[in-house]
Amino acid sequence: MTLALGVGLLGSLSIPAATAGFAESADPAAAVQELAAQAAALPSGRTTYRAITDYNDEMLALSTQHPGLVKHITLPHKTRQGREVYGIEVTHDVDASDGKPVLFMMGMHHGNEWPSGEHTLEFAYDLINNDGKDPRITRLLDQARVIFVPVVNVDGFMLNRRTSCGVSPTCASSAGVDINRNYPFGWGSNAGSNATTRGPGPGSEPEIQNIMDLTSANQVTVLITNHTSGHTLLRPPLEKRAGDAPDEAAYAALTDAMAAKNGYTGMKSGFDYETTGETPDWSYYATRGLGFTFEIMKTQSTNNTYPEVIEDYLGTGRYEGKSNREAFMVALEYAADPAGHSVITGQGPKGAVLTITKDFDLWTAPIKQAGSVIDPPIAVPTHLESRLITPTNGKFTWHVNPSVRPAPAYTETGVVATGPGKFLKESWTLTCARPTGEVLETVHVTVDRGEQVEVRLQECKTRFNGNGPKD
Ligand SMILES: [Zn+2]
Repeated sequence: MTLALGVGLLGSLSIPAATAGFAESADPAAAVQELAAQAAALPSGRTTYRAITDYNDEMLALSTQHPGLVKHITLPHKTRQGREVYGIEVTHDVDASDGKPVLFMMGMHHGNEWPSGEHTLEFAYDLINNDGKDPRITRLLDQARVIFVPVVNVDGFMLNRRTSCGVSPTCASSAGVDINRNYPFGWGSNAGSNATTRGPGPGSEPEIQNIMDLTSANQVTVLITNHTSGHTLLRPPLEKRAGDAPDEAAYAALTDAMAAKNGYTGMKSGFDYETTGETPDWSYYATRGLGFTFEIMKTQSTNNTYPEVIEDYLGTGRYEGKSNREAFMVALEYAADPAGHSVITGQGPKGAVLTITKDFDLWTAPIKQAGSVIDPPIAVPTHLESRLITPTNGKFTWHVNPSVRPAPAYTETGVVATGPGKFLKESWTLTCARPTGEVLETVHVTVDRGEQVEVRLQECKTRFNGNGPKD
């Protein structure tokens, strides 16, 4: 039962009195009342904002209590103040190397936007609690992997402020970095950029290097970064002169499908207000996975706003019939659907290590300095690399982002607006190797959105299993 699970899990945390009482209630009328309360409760049963210890303890508890379904992860970089950043991955057989497409959801790039972390972790509970009970969620956990990082900017959250600590040893707020202006793609533009808060260089901050590393090492077909507030659903471009995304039609369609569920207003980010160096533009132009900013809640205040967190998530009270949870479900359906990404299939030797890589430069914007000085754009070497171990029968199905890359508006020579249909016909480099790392075969795979390509790894199979001399 979901309820028994919730009580057990929350035993060491804060148990809402009503939920705790229900487990022991023998009174049928009270039980009905409690069921109604349960229906209006968040998946975790929480009624107050979490502290960082709550996030960290709960993610650890979820992974301990659901082995095989939930994997605890520690992100590669500590924060500027030396704190660890944690997340969880959720899918069936979570420890396997499975080639599933990934939905990556995160919260709190801005440390004072508490509801963004709450909705992120609640969606994780939702999937975990309903696995094996709700056929839709059970199917989606067969098809896709979901990565959750509820608190990206841990230092900022500890200080309850928007910015991270930046390079200031004392965390002086004047030196803080708005890490959602620090992503390298289009960094430093004069559109809404601030030379201090954008950080000392493109992608300089460890908090976003975590997100870039995870995105570069997984096939993230949909990315959602939760923020507050305003009930908007934002997609590229983050400044108007960059032009529409080459995948604007698909982007708009998914925006509309999600907005139909949560009632938010979908728009291109730069038409809200222009910024630079944000998450979704970097992730889209690096990987072609569709990235979105969700501005959840209508109020920015974090005091006494938990009822709104609950109603916005569930679609109750003031948001009756419009649920952010359902918008997240649409995103997960899309992330899992091969029509929205690419698939590489084939047969290799059992236990071979397959790796796909891409290397290219992205560019910052022409960089606005003090006064009217504009420095030339900086190249940002970008490396994508994912791995898959071939299963026992050797047959693999690898859900990947297209090798064909959206043409970026930020270039060596400045900003050149792109638009629908403008792509660079690039390939994935796929290697087949022994577990020792010895590469036995290399092929180039060109695959576009919605396409499936089969690769033959005959040479790898022959050499992997053969006893002949190795060169
Ligand atoms: Zn924000």
